[in-house]
Amino acid sequence: MRREVLERVGSALERISLKVVDMKERTLPSYAFDSSRGQFDASALLVEAQNPGLFLWIVDKDIYVEGMNFVFGLADRLQGAILSVYRLPSQEIIEKEAIHEMGHVLGLRHCDNYCVMRFSNSLREVMEKPSCFCEKCRHLIHNKL
Ligand SMILES: [Zn+2]
Ligand SMILES: [Zn+2]
Repeated sequence: MRREVLERVGSALERISLKVVDMKERTLPSYAFDSSRGQFDASALLVEAQNPGLFLWIVDKDIYVEGMNFVFGLADRLQGAILSVYRLPSQEIIEKEAIHEMGHVLGLRHCDNYCVMRFSNSLREVMEKPSCFCEKCRHLIHNKL
């Protein structure tokens, strides 16, 4: 993982005034690797990352959750999130998905508005949504923090 990618995601989160995030950089544990799928189990990684405070762990390997072919990320409410850049082609899209995952960490659900919290399970869907929160989600966040 390039340091620069992490730093730029950090400033993207600050720009939308998301509170301090512990940007993790560590080795993925081998027990979380499913060799038949060739992917890491995102749920196991989230457990591995357990630590107090909000965090975003960005990895460059492909991750999945049971029942899905792959996921871009996985978040635990008020804990932290993991984001894989494996399928994300540009810095802009990485930042967008980082904001999306941190939105979940802050308690937001998926949103149908023109909003970064829109559900996206394909690159096209990621590209079509904005990198900021809609009015409704902004309010929800500010009421919680
Ligand atoms: Zn989501
Ligand atoms: Zn929204």
